Amino acid sequence: MNDGLLEKYAAKSSTSLGRTHPESSPAYRGEFQRDRDRIIHSTAFRRLEYKTQVFVNHEGDLFRTRLTHSIEVAQISRTIARSLQLNEDLSETIGLAHDLGHTPFGHAGQDVLNDCMRDYGGFEHNLQSLRVVDELEEKYAEFPGLNLTFESREGILKHCSLKNARILGEVGQRFLNKHHPSLEAQLTNLADEIAYNSHDVDDGLRSGLITLKQLREVELFNSLYEDVDKNYPDLPTRRKIYEIVRRLISCQVVDLIETSKARIEQAKPESITDVREHDQPLIAYSDSMREQNLAMKRFLRENLYMHYRVRRMSSKSARMLRELFGAFMDDDLLLPPEYQDKVRQQQRESGDSGKARIIADYIAGMTDRYANAEYSKIFDPGSLT
Ligand code: MG
Repeated sequence: MNDGLLEKYAAKSSTSLGRTHPESSPAYRGEFQRDRDRIIHSTAFRRLEYKTQVFVNHEGDLFRTRLTHSIEVAQISRTIARSLQLNEDLSETIGLAHDLGHTPFGHAGQDVLNDCMRDYGGFEHNLQSLRVVDELEEKYAEFPGLNLTFESREGILKHCSLKNARILGEVGQRFLNKHHPSLEAQLTNLADEIAYNSHDVDDGLRSGLITLKQLREVELFNSLYEDVDKNYPDLPTRRKIYEIVRRLISCQVVDLIETSKARIEQAKPESITDVREHDQPLIAYSDSMREQNLAMKRFLRENLYMHYRVRRMSSKSARMLRELFGAFMDDDLLLPPEYQDKVRQQQRESGDSGKARIIADYIAGMTDRYANAEYSKIFDPGSLT
């Protein structure tokens, strides 16, 4: 991405705030391209293939996983960034990295791990994504983690408690100052929502847990449904759904681009600093789209995420992770040797909190199927270890 083609308030490779461990500039790539490439080659990125979005991996081959979700987020982000003449490379990087810290079994995993870690500093998946790229990936000779640019790290840390912000240094500062991240980070955050709302509709219908009839109670869905039905009355249902989902993504993306363009024109930021210090985020939906979007989210929460079949799976998964955490806390000799070494080192430095953090890292890094296998190995007397 040539910096000269970007708006003056876009994030630029040539004026990046840099990396924690200084490195010379890459020869044939920009700084954010290098960040993206490091993410694609990371272990945590490959693990996303076997981590749940909503449906557990073995429930079907066509459902989204965290990997395909992240690729969809990167795609939507690139479209929005390019049309606003913002930095496509940075948005793509944040899109691909935003879920690296997710636990196995989706939100159920995050909640239970946070609960297990209550006395040891808690567990936030956003913070864990940052921890993965800052510390946990061990691939490079000269530094721990992936040593990403400040701008990529700022985008990955979407939310953060004030308590944690205080100990994070410069990347946590904006939460204390109530500032915003770059426009590239703001748009990727909303691209994440557009992606999961749309693909959860698609996966929800495919699974049969929600029906077309139910979804037609949602205004945003129904208006698109009626349009498609009128124009293509004989189209097979599955294809009709694809057409609706496609339009669902498109209408939200167009609304976001047009509304954000108008907000930027009005605010007239001169630089990325103006963007960060502006009183409101400049990337946003129109009021009516935000309302419709909220209604869609509410529908998905009540009808899909709370569906008894999804709840059974998440409750089972939560129980498994809680028991694994307890077993490792009680006896760290059950951990693989490299984690035992880390536990010992951390316990020396910060006691039980240090030990618990390493166990949380181990559990958060597991794929769904790895967690299942670990659970059987530790709790099932008939299982071979
Ligand atoms: Mg996401």
